[in-house]
Amino acid sequence: MKLGMIAGLVVWTITLKAQDDAQVLARGRAHVDALTSPAFHGRGYVNNGQAIAAEYIAGEFKRMGLQPVKADYFQPFAFNVNSFPDSIGVQVDGQFLRPGIDYLVHPASGSAEGRFELVHLTAADLFSAERKAMSLGVVAGKAAVLHWPATKNTDSLARFAQLEEELMHYVPVVKVVRGKLTWSVAQDARPYPLVEVMDGLVSDSSAVLDLQVRNRMLARNPARNVLGMVKGKSKSWVIISAHYDHLGRMGPDALFPGANDNASGVAMMLELAQWFSTHPPKHNLLFVAFAGEEAGLVGSEWFAVDRPIDLSKVKLMLNLDILGTGDDGIMAVNATVAQEHYARLVDVNFKGRFVNEVRARGPACNSDHCPLVKRGVPALFLYTLGGAAHYHDVNDTGASLTLKAFAPIHALLRTFIAKVK
Ligand SMILES: [Zn+2]
Repeated sequence: MKLGMIAGLVVWTITLKAQDDAQVLARGRAHVDALTSPAFHGRGYVNNGQAIAAEYIAGEFKRMGLQPVKADYFQPFAFNVNSFPDSIGVQVDGQFLRPGIDYLVHPASGSAEGRFELVHLTAADLFSAERKAMSLGVVAGKAAVLHWPATKNTDSLARFAQLEEELMHYVPVVKVVRGKLTWSVAQDARPYPLVEVMDGLVSDSSAVLDLQVRNRMLARNPARNVLGMVKGKSKSWVIISAHYDHLGRMGPDALFPGANDNASGVAMMLELAQWFSTHPPKHNLLFVAFAGEEAGLVGSEWFAVDRPIDLSKVKLMLNLDILGTGDDGIMAVNATVAQEHYARLVDVNFKGRFVNEVRARGPACNSDHCPLVKRGVPALFLYTLGGAAHYHDVNDTGASLTLKAFAPIHALLRTFIAKVK
C-alpha cells in the first residue's frame, strides 16, 4: 500500500467514526425528544403516559430486530400508585400559585376542596406529646402551615418529614420550601393533601388557603418492563437496563418531562441495542427498560422475582440512569464490589480516551441495579457527572440537556460490553 493510500484510509476511517458518532447523537436526541414530548405525559400515571412509552420502546426493539424473551417484549406486573389527573388549584390569601413553579402537592396527598383558615405551627408545637395534642385541637377543621427551622441535619429532616406525614392524617398542610421543589411518586395516599410552597409566597401573616386538590389512587395499576435480546455466542448474559418511567403530570398544567431522568438512559440503552443488533456480541445481551422505578424500584424488583432469564448466568448488569451530561465524565456505583468489571471499564476508557473520568462509588440502593445486586448479580450503575442538570422538576426538559458526552459514552460502553468476561 502506498503512503497516500494509507493516509486516505486513515482519513476515511476517521470520517466514518465521526459519522457514526453524529448518527448516535442524532438518534439519541430523537429518542429523548420523543420520550419527553407532551404526548408521553411525563411517562407516569396521568393519561397512562408510561404505557405510551412502553409501546414506543417495544416498537424500537422490533424495528431493530431484537428478539423477545417470551411471547412478546413485555413483562407485565401491577402496583398501587397515587395520581393527580384533575386540575389543581392553590391560593394563599387570594393569590393564585402556579403548579410546578410556585408549589407542588406531596405525592401521597389526599383530596381537599374549599377555603381553610391557616394556623401557623413550628417544630416546637409538635415535638412533645402534650404540645402536639394541643396543636391538633387548634388546627381541627382548619389547615396547618409548617415553619421548620433551616437545617441540613438528616435526623431533624427525617423527624420533620414524619411530623408532616402525620399531620396529613388530620388536616390539609402547607409546608414552606427553601431551595428547590422536588417531586416524586407515592404508592399510597393519606387523607389530606400537603402543599409544598416556595418560601416568600406564604408568610407568617398568611391567613387563608383555598384548595382544590383531588387525588386518584390507582389500585393494581398495570405496568410493563420491556425486554429485548440479541443472541450471542456464549450461554452467559449481559443485562443493559434503563428505567423509562418518570413522574408524569401533576394535574393538566404541570408536566415532568424527565429528560435527564431517565429519557437519557433509555436513549443510550436503545442506541446500544441498535449497535449490537448489527455487531454480534460474545454474550447474550438483554436490553431491559424498567417501569415503576420512581415509585420505589418496583419494576426491577419484579424482574428479580419473576426471573425471565437465569440470573446465575448473568456476567454483568449495566444500569443506566441519568446520562444527559457527562462534562466531567461518569460515575460507576457498586464499583468497589464489581471491582474487575470496573477496572476493565477504566482500562477501556484510558485506551480509547472517551470520557474525562470514570469515577468509583461503593454500593448504593439508588436505582434498578439494587434488587439484582441483592440476589448476587454483579452490577455497575452509571450516571453522568458535571454540566447543568435539573432533577425531578418541571425544568428537566429535553431542550435543557446537552447530551455532551452521549456519543463518547456510547463508544466507551459498546467497546466495554464486547470485552465483558
Ligand atoms: Zn432515575
